[in-house]
Amino acid sequence: MITKNQKETKELAGELASRLTGLKPHSAWRKKKALILALSGELGAGKTTFIQGFSKALGIREKILSPTFVLIHKHRIANGQFKNSYHIDAYRLRSEKDLLKLGIKEIFDNPENIVLIEWADRVKKGIPKNATWIHFDHLDKNRRKIRIK
Ligand code: ADP
Ligand code: MG
Repeated sequence: MITKNQKETKELAGELASRLTGLKPHSAWRKKKALILALSGELGAGKTTFIQGFSKALGIREKILSPTFVLIHKHRIANGQFKNSYHIDAYRLRSEKDLLKLGIKEIFDNPENIVLIEWADRVKKGIPKNATWIHFDHLDKNRRKIRIK
């Protein structure tokens, strides 16, 4: 998809959130684990903006900030099968070992969690196979190419 402004990126994210959270917990692709979105793309490509739209669709009303300094933000959600949303920024992580130190394994293993990871390509080996990868390309000032695998 190509979005022409940040509002379109948020709308696309909201649509994906509705579709993914509408899937039954026993769907083969989830295998009773967390729902994971792995986001990649350069600085300013729209990863945080996408997560803002995604989170809003989940019913999170708190402001979604970039967790670059905190590494991980947890938000409570009441979206049927899901109870927590974790927003992680892997920009400052050197490898998947750093990701493990955040206690990520337990988070990935809990089917009540949604995990949104910015700069996921930096810790690629640590991202479970059932993750949905989303790549952001910065085309020009306001256009972004968003590929959802
Ligand atoms: P990242 O998290 O990938 O570093 P951000 O979402 O923080 O990126 O920043 C994207 C910036 O680009 C924001 O300032 C946003 O307003 C702007 N922007 C312009 N056009 C778009 C678009 N189509 N989609 C998303 N963001 C856009
Ligand atoms: Mg960001």
